[in-house]
Amino acid sequence: MTTVEVPHGSRSAVLRVAAVINETADACSLVFDVPEELRERFTYQPGQFLTLRIPSELTGSVARCYSLASSPHTDDRPKVTVKRTADGYASNWVCDNVKAGDELEVLPPSGVFTPKDIDEDLLLFAAGSGITPVMSILKSALARGSGRVVLVYANRDVESVIFANELRELGDKHPQRLIVVHWLETLQGLPSVAGLAALAAPYTGHRAYMCGPKAFMDRVHDALAQLGVPRNRTHAEVFNSLAGDPFSVTAPAEVSEAEAADAATVEVELDGEVHNLSWPRSQTLVDIMLAKGIDVPYSCQEGECGSCACTVLEGKVDMDSSDILDPEDIEAGYILGCQAHPVTDHLKIQF
Ligand SMILES: Cc1cc2nc3c(=O)[nH]c(=O)nc-3n(C[C@H](O)[C@H](O)[C@H](O)COP(=O)(O)OP(=O)(O)OC[C@H]3O[C@@H](n4cnc5c(N)ncnc54)[C@H](O)[C@@H]3O)c2cc1C
Repeated sequence: MTTVEVPHGSRSAVLRVAAVINETADACSLVFDVPEELRERFTYQPGQFLTLRIPSELTGSVARCYSLASSPHTDDRPKVTVKRTADGYASNWVCDNVKAGDELEVLPPSGVFTPKDIDEDLLLFAAGSGITPVMSILKSALARGSGRVVLVYANRDVESVIFANELRELGDKHPQRLIVVHWLETLQGLPSVAGLAALAAPYTGHRAYMCGPKAFMDRVHDALAQLGVPRNRTHAEVFNSLAGDPFSVTAPAEVSEAEAADAATVEVELDGEVHNLSWPRSQTLVDIMLAKGIDVPYSCQEGECGSCACTVLEGKVDMDSSDILDPEDIEAGYILGCQAHPVTDHLKIQF
């Protein structure tokens, strides 16, 4: 049995696994018990993810993000669903080892792949394990929203369809509001741009959310672009493995007097509060906010997860890495707080 005595860092918590559900031959779900004292910290929005600390004899541990497939509006307990990655370490460790009653160290929910308006009509695309955040959005929209929901869901074959029964039941319960279109590689080949565009064509007024392998999402983007869906109405979640350790909080390095004198200033708006901060150019936005004890949303600090995405309203930043942002996101002023350094002397940023 896996037990965790002490959380590794101050941001994490130890959660007990209430149940393990075998979803398909290569995917399992972990349902967590959240004790009363952690309820507030573990409140989540549909589409967000948890970061799990997976023990490793080789490196001590690895950190991996897993999207919540449960809905905060319909499920009592948070649930993540992990699909085995061929030769992957953590996903196979979870599916092979975790049992009900085990404990895992977990970072609280994070992420910005969340519905902007729960009442909007939605056009959802998922492939394989990419169904997890999409399922949370879908269930939440049906339970709390009033719009129509169309899901295009690609899988290798019938056996690999995660949540097949749940989707069937939701379709029966909401026949006027939910359409699920399955795309099976064994029958139809890999999803093509033309095929995806044909499926999406009647729903171009819906807001689009997508999650799956990069090649799949590239095709969905191309299909929606062909149909003239504005880029600011399409949202994508990228699944990456983290290389660093977001469980340990490292204090930003001290800055020299010369650097402090050359620091930029930034006005940051977060949760309706405005903070005026000095921003030394070697530090990131997340660094300076953490140093001031501000509850900035972040997780990986590697530019991989998108938790710290925010918008530059005035001024300019440089980013160490911005690969998970689309060119259109960057054009629209989105930045990753954990990768951003000031270029101009004054900036205005909004989370
Ligand atoms: C926001 C977000 C949400 C996500 N949501 C989901 C989800 O809902 N479901 C899902 O299935 N996936 C999800 N992912 C992907 C998930 O985080 C992992 O990337 C995925 O499970 C593959 O991880 P892996 O360790 O199995 O494979 P890999 O990342 O391919 O692991 C291989 C790596 O592990 C190292 N390694 C091998 N053996 C060991 C060892 N013994 N100790 C230490 N390191 C070792 C190797 O050097 C190699 O670098 C999400 C990712 C993100 C960013």
